[in-house]
Amino acid sequence: MEQIDWGNIGFGYMKTDFNIRCTYSAGKWGELEVHESEYLSLHMAATSLHYGQESFEGLKAFRGKDGKIRIFRMKDNALRMQDSSEGTMMAKVPVEVFEEAVLKAVKLNERFVPPYESGASLYIRPVLFGSGAQVGVKPATEYMFIVFVTPVGPYFKGGFQTTPFVIMREYDRSAPLGMGKYKVGGNYAASLVAGQRAHDMGYSNIFYLDAREKKYIDECGAANFFGIKNNTYITPKSTSILPSITNKSLMVLADDLGLKVEQRAIPVEELSTFEEAGACGTAAVISPIERIDDFDEKKSYVFSHDGKPGPISEKLYHKLRGIQYGDEPDTHGWVTVVE
Ligand SMILES: *Cc1c(COP(=O)(O)O)cnc(C)c1O
Repeated sequence: MEQIDWGNIGFGYMKTDFNIRCTYSAGKWGELEVHESEYLSLHMAATSLHYGQESFEGLKAFRGKDGKIRIFRMKDNALRMQDSSEGTMMAKVPVEVFEEAVLKAVKLNERFVPPYESGASLYIRPVLFGSGAQVGVKPATEYMFIVFVTPVGPYFKGGFQTTPFVIMREYDRSAPLGMGKYKVGGNYAASLVAGQRAHDMGYSNIFYLDAREKKYIDECGAANFFGIKNNTYITPKSTSILPSITNKSLMVLADDLGLKVEQRAIPVEELSTFEEAGACGTAAVISPIERIDDFDEKKSYVFSHDGKPGPISEKLYHKLRGIQYGDEPDTHGWVTVVE
């Protein structure tokens, strides 16, 4: 068996041994199937290809000091995928089927779960899509649910670091009453041009404002935003952002740490009052923000503390990572230990 250089795997795709599949047809889900091939045979008129009937999830499994594998908030991901099904008229994957498929994918690919010391983890990607043929614009009658896994390296190679973001008012990720609250591929397609431009300009990602008024903060790339001031954790309330499970967890941990937690509309100008700011999501947990440049308003909001993340972001980050790796007690029942 090949040796994997766990410290240098990055966030890419690496082939693993097995993927788990389940198909829906004639009104019901079939049995879970174990596949070795990375490819699938799909009808060319599948609704996912033409009309974007698709959703996905992203979660991780971690190997602890004790050698045990822990999966973080699997049920929340299952429920969120069900929400996405409502938004796209797809068959819902039952929570038990989702959980069983994830567990099976992790167990069968156990040799790809990186060792504790590496700081790497196993990324789990469940995907659901319309596989039935349809030419008229209608939901499919057949669906395919697949779970594959791939090891991913530590997000911060040189340690927990800040990066700059940029506000670009000429792009929207999603509409106020649109699909932003669902985890669907179309939102990502809609964000590629803006993301590329931000990268080309040297930013880690674009900072989206609400599409209607361009007045409030929505998301930072494909991550939720939070700001910290006066011992308060503040995160946007908006109909066009994706409810991040990381953000939900950080709100609970902030409360545990004695911070006040507010979920409300955040006007752009309020950025100047935050002591710390971060983007949060499964990939990085927290990606602390160095500064946010706003060229239209000729402003730059700076949060970095000499290039380092703020103390509360640092605390929240280590607390959440500690729970994920099993170094901290799982007091909120977020972790599933793989038996
Ligand atoms: C997945 C995603 C997030 C982060 O959600 P987590 O559950 O924390 O990984 C944030 N914003 C968007 C648009 C997303 O797709």
